[in-house]
Amino acid sequence: MGKGMNCLFTFGGLFYLMCLTSCHGGMDSKAANASQDSLVLGGVSVSKTDTVPLCTGKLTKRWKAPVHLNIDTLHPISKDSLAKALRIERRRIRDSVRLALDKLPKHLYFTFDDGPLRGSKAIDSIAKARKIKINTFLVGKHAFMSKGLKRDYQRYYDNPLVECYNHSYTHGNNKFTSFYSNAVGAVNDFEKNETDLKLQHKIIRLPGRNIWIYDDVRRIDLQSGASTADLLYTNGYKIFGWDVEWKIHGLTGKPIQSVHEIYTRIRNYMNNKSSMEPNNVVLLMHDDMFQNKKGQQLLSSLIDTIQRHTDYQFEFMQDYPFRY
Ligand SMILES: [Zn+2]
Repeated sequence: MGKGMNCLFTFGGLFYLMCLTSCHGGMDSKAANASQDSLVLGGVSVSKTDTVPLCTGKLTKRWKAPVHLNIDTLHPISKDSLAKALRIERRRIRDSVRLALDKLPKHLYFTFDDGPLRGSKAIDSIAKARKIKINTFLVGKHAFMSKGLKRDYQRYYDNPLVECYNHSYTHGNNKFTSFYSNAVGAVNDFEKNETDLKLQHKIIRLPGRNIWIYDDVRRIDLQSGASTADLLYTNGYKIFGWDVEWKIHGLTGKPIQSVHEIYTRIRNYMNNKSSMEPNNVVLLMHDDMFQNKKGQQLLSSLIDTIQRHTDYQFEFMQDYPFRY
């Protein structure tokens, strides 16, 4: 045999290759346009500014990209050794990227589903009192059930700290498999919701499904729902799921996960970069969890804990994701 050839082995085929150049998905960012000093973070050279974060998207790309190893075919190694070498290389890259990402801003998205419902008014007041941005995924049918709920919807709509997004008009009448079996009918239901609630953003969360389709990402939890989500994406919508869910019994205000538990989970996702996008964590809650004073106190307490112990920024889903 002549000279040895180098073969390229790829690890982690499930990861999507990304080639974005700004913090916000494909959108422009001030940082991407700024020409500044450069420094090396996680083995990646990125531009540096005094006031604007490092929004090149290179670290995120490096975090998600497959690992490549150059192998000398003259001295082939066993499959097990190759897998081990790839694991070690992947850990090496991830450790260095994690360190770099830890120094950069972290973004938290509070999302509330199924409103307006009993609980929405309290959520609206808490957002104002704490001056934090929140996101609501609304169900039109609920807004037209009573004058009170219509008012609660209007309160959300008029509050600049609240963004209103689409969670379908009927919530699929809670029969999700049947709802998603007719993708065109389901899309019509979302479009009715957008019109009736005068929604400004093409942002959707599917009832009963944790499905993500946006930019270069497509992740499906249950196949039923995929064709509806794909059709919505084709029609210009972004579909967002969630990383962490918090549950409280709405009527009693009794938490299924305590404030401490949910806070720890959010921190772990942020630190381990195990959320859909590193340095971005999406928390799912439901409006009816906060109809009781006890539940409302827990929400305030979670916000307090986050504000006291972290520098996480509360964000709108329309700005998701920030990529560094
Ligand atoms: Zn829902």
